[in-house]
Amino acid sequence: MENMIESGVLNIGTLGHIDHGKTTLVKAITHKWTDVHSESIKRNMTIKLGYADALIRKCDGCEEPEAYTTYDKCKNCDGEAKPVLRISLLDAPGHETLMATAIAVANMIHAILFVIAANEPCPMQQTKEHMMIMNVLGIRNVIIVQTKVDLVGREGAMKHYAQIKEFVKGTVAEKAPVVPVVSSQEANIDVLLEMITKLQVQKADPGADPFMYVARSFDINKPGIDASGINGGVIGGTIVRGRLRVGDEIEIRPGVNTSEDQKKEKYEPIITVIKGMNNGSEDITEAYPGGLIGILTEVDPAFTKADSMVGNVVGHVGKLPSMISIVSMKFTKLKRNDIPERAITENEPLILSIGTATVLGFVIKAKRDNVEVRLKHPVCADSGTKVAIMRNFAQRWKLSGYGVI
Ligand code: ZN
Repeated sequence: MENMIESGVLNIGTLGHIDHGKTTLVKAITHKWTDVHSESIKRNMTIKLGYADALIRKCDGCEEPEAYTTYDKCKNCDGEAKPVLRISLLDAPGHETLMATAIAVANMIHAILFVIAANEPCPMQQTKEHMMIMNVLGIRNVIIVQTKVDLVGREGAMKHYAQIKEFVKGTVAEKAPVVPVVSSQEANIDVLLEMITKLQVQKADPGADPFMYVARSFDINKPGIDASGINGGVIGGTIVRGRLRVGDEIEIRPGVNTSEDQKKEKYEPIITVIKGMNNGSEDITEAYPGGLIGILTEVDPAFTKADSMVGNVVGHVGKLPSMISIVSMKFTKLKRNDIPERAITENEPLILSIGTATVLGFVIKAKRDNVEVRLKHPVCADSGTKVAIMRNFAQRWKLSGYGVI
């Protein structure tokens, strides 16, 4: 953990019932609202993954107790607070897409803040379902944040705490600490920050072949710019393993559709060079797992405009998993009360979330727990990758299970 700040960023997923104060908590930690679009599955069915970064600092002067903050100065003694750990809080909109996203990007989440509001009985339905997702993912780095404790008083908060402890019995969060906070007043946020710095997180191997998910892409050129001054396309995303450096030759897969025929698709990987990188606050020359990284490439910006490269993966040339159009998975159904008992059938449409890619597909084969799906667009994924599977019930897409490729 000591080297986390040099070698990467701690990615923290946020889960919890929709009205339980996740956004206010994120604001209390990062002093900004999460960058999440309200529409979940829109144009190209891409899910907008929200990132909010913060730098946790510790006061040099305060020892008993230690003082943690995300401001420059210590609130206790006004002394200088020194950087300890960079974090990136990840969020996705809605309830269904949040759960699907958590499964799809599980390999880039290091820890979870699980938000439960004290002014409602625990567990609420969505709280139960989010806990189910954490159990599926086996994430053990969990901190339970008991929000809105100011609304219920001390006795109410204690009673609610007992409900939480009862609820987490037998789950991955059984031993998770419970931190009461009042986000709107930033009360007890310092204790939460301290707990985050004490999480035991396995460090990624910087020697591994780099692998990055693309979560954003854009054209940074102003309209009408003359050709000589044009910048290449920019892709943004999160490195899951390995390290990328300025000057690296990279491959972006599955790349772009180069078919001239409107009815057919032919995806070709893009090979390009990293011209520059940015971590959201400054230009950098190398990047490690965690956080949102922006990469300036030599790709034609027409390919990267308006998030059109979201869902791609990036790595060194020839070191990425192959492109797949037919995905064969072991399917596990999630226990949800509001989903009818109905087996997956041939030709059924499914929405699959794999990494940052969200793809429509049709079932070709469904035999017991083995499901084979033909995807509308190819994706790039290793075997063993977890895939979130949404099914359509009465005109609504519901997360109904997950697959393992
Ligand atoms: Zn201090």
